[in-house]
Amino acid sequence: MDEFEVAIIGAGPAGSSAAYRLAKEGVNVLLVERANKPGSKNVFGGRIYSYPMAGTFPDFWKDPPIERYVTQENLVFMTESNSVTMKYDSSSPHGVAAQSFTVLREKFDSWLAKKAEAAGALLITGTRVDDLLWENGKIAGVVAGPDAVKSNVVVAADGVVSTFAQKAGLRKELTSKELSVAAKETIKLPQETIEDRFGLSKKEGAAYSFVGYASGYLRGGGFLYTNNDTVSLGVVVSAEDLALKRKEIFEIMEEFKLHPSVQKLVRGGEMVEYSAHMIPEMGINTLPALFKDNFIVVGDAGGLLINHGYTYRGVDLAIISGTSAAEAIIHARQKGDYSKMGLSAYPDILRKKGVMKEMVTFQNTPQFLQRARLFTTYPKLVCDIFDRMYTVDGTGKEKVFDICRKELGKVSILKLLRDVLGGFKSM
Ligand SMILES: Cc1cc2nc3c(=O)[nH]c(=O)nc-3n(C[C@H](O)[C@H](O)[C@H](O)COP(=O)(O)OP(=O)(O)OC[C@H]3O[C@@H](n4cnc5c(N)ncnc54)[C@H](O)[C@@H]3O)c2cc1C
Repeated sequence: MDEFEVAIIGAGPAGSSAAYRLAKEGVNVLLVERANKPGSKNVFGGRIYSYPMAGTFPDFWKDPPIERYVTQENLVFMTESNSVTMKYDSSSPHGVAAQSFTVLREKFDSWLAKKAEAAGALLITGTRVDDLLWENGKIAGVVAGPDAVKSNVVVAADGVVSTFAQKAGLRKELTSKELSVAAKETIKLPQETIEDRFGLSKKEGAAYSFVGYASGYLRGGGFLYTNNDTVSLGVVVSAEDLALKRKEIFEIMEEFKLHPSVQKLVRGGEMVEYSAHMIPEMGINTLPALFKDNFIVVGDAGGLLINHGYTYRGVDLAIISGTSAAEAIIHARQKGDYSKMGLSAYPDILRKKGVMKEMVTFQNTPQFLQRARLFTTYPKLVCDIFDRMYTVDGTGKEKVFDICRKELGKVSILKLLRDVLGGFKSM
């Protein structure tokens, strides 16, 4: 039976970051990925926040697997027939804002996994971990097909469903209330077309969040990110709403894509990839325990994701949690104690790196985003106000104040005030 100090399940951003940090420290680490190429099965919107990159991978900026730097943010309220876009442009003195960038997961995850490999981790791809290895009631490694591998610690970096956090008894299967379902298309367009159409210079990128019709007025929304010569277009919808309304995610995706405002952005493009995935929507209030004797959970497997309502942050937290878990393991290794007590530095390191603080800051966002009218009433309200403002048809133009008064009269002002206040306080 092979033996490693640490076995990591999953070479996504969380698993590869953990493997890289451990290998750099000279730890004998195994990184197992079920896909033939890391990232080839992984789905996400398209944007990564840069702040953890340089600290984790010192040579990241030398040859980064980046498509475009996001310099343009768009928030789009939409109904069936029209849309209102709020646009924010941010160009740094260097022409690009390096706060966030777009990537394609196959390139990005493969780059991370290669870094871990170059640092000394053993990366095995095309191999699915089937089970945990137990000895005397304790986790003692992993089982993949006929092979068992012993390790002092197992790191579950297997993503949102995390069979292994469940097998370890740290969490139950997520319910539809704690999950969203997403569909995404990668659409190929010439690089010049993307730059002309979105008003971008070379390497600049655009990010879009769509609210309202985008998710079929269910809780969720749409997204679009520009890559070098593709755009990533998709929808994310509450799993609970989909079940209640008996809607399929691909139907919503199709309707969204055919919306005139979306068609203008993607027309002439060729779909080169279609994928679907789930997203944890737990928030810190329902976060599972993140470690036990000989076992640590990182990234999506531990529910470490923040949905701000207008942007998702999963990859940055996956990278930070991966390196934090690695540091806790290094600490445990120095003491020769891989028990729960020995690994207990993990939450402290997460706290020090600000992850827990941010999760606490946004702890009420998931609850706030449960309010269905945010995705139905208000997008329609915004579009209707703009529609009337720009209508001049000879029937007597109204002042903006009267338009707003009449449109606002259609909704409960008390609820609106509560939602505005709730939004300010939780988002
Ligand atoms: C549609 C969508 C849009 C999103 N948009 C964004 C965004 O724009 N920005 C952002 O930061 N986050 C976004 N997220 C969230 C982000 O994708 C995740 O938070 C992030 O990928 C988590 O990284 P991870 O390493 O924890 O898990 P994953 O990326 O899911 O990686 C898990 C890995 O484990 C492997 N694996 C699973 N089971 C096994 C097994 N049994 N054996 C071996 N290997 C296994 C998988 O193949 C995979 O490579 C989005 C998510 C979705 C679904």
